[in-house]
Amino acid sequence: MRKLLVIVDFQNDFVLQNGALFVPNANKLIEQASKSLTKNKLKEYDDILVQFDTHTEVDYPSTEESKQFPIHCIPGTFGWNLAFKDLDVLDYLHSYAYHAFKPQFDIWRGASYVKQDIMVGVSIPTTETQFLANHSNNEWEVHVFGIAGDVCVKETIIGWVMRGYKVTAFRNLIVGFEKDIDTIREEIGLDFNIVNSETIT
Ligand SMILES: [Zn+2]
Repeated sequence: MRKLLVIVDFQNDFVLQNGALFVPNANKLIEQASKSLTKNKLKEYDDILVQFDTHTEVDYPSTEESKQFPIHCIPGTFGWNLAFKDLDVLDYLHSYAYHAFKPQFDIWRGASYVKQDIMVGVSIPTTETQFLANHSNNEWEVHVFGIAGDVCVKETIIGWVMRGYKVTAFRNLIVGFEKDIDTIREEIGLDFNIVNSETIT
């Protein structure tokens, strides 16, 4: 099987204590990520999809999450940027990964996709349909981590499992507002693996 890594909302507004929507303990993931997600580790994946929570002042008030949360992750702001500290990792993700920009906490309700390709020198627009067509469930398995476990990561995992993919979540690289990933799996009753990222070879 080929391996797709899906990184969910690993953005400063969620990860940093002074971020617009800090998720308790998310700051601890930065160190965890530096330990187990080096550039060499990323290169072992056949593809990477980086999800960005993305809101604008104009659109945000009409979203479901605006009833619960203050505005966050506005493109062009520091809070929207990825929170990884390793510059090689950031460079790799900005050079070779797919990026998906989502205006809702659920990635499956409309997101814009682009493929970063440094060799071509531009971001190539694509779609969710095209992305899934290029990553079929009989050839690809999915590894997932990020924030927040009980909101966006949960919705991401549900979508992949329901589409028939083998999914593995990294326990040590996921935090939720209230629940850990094991509790979430029990609640949603879907079948996926949970491991620590260090154990992935
Ligand atoms: Zn959001």
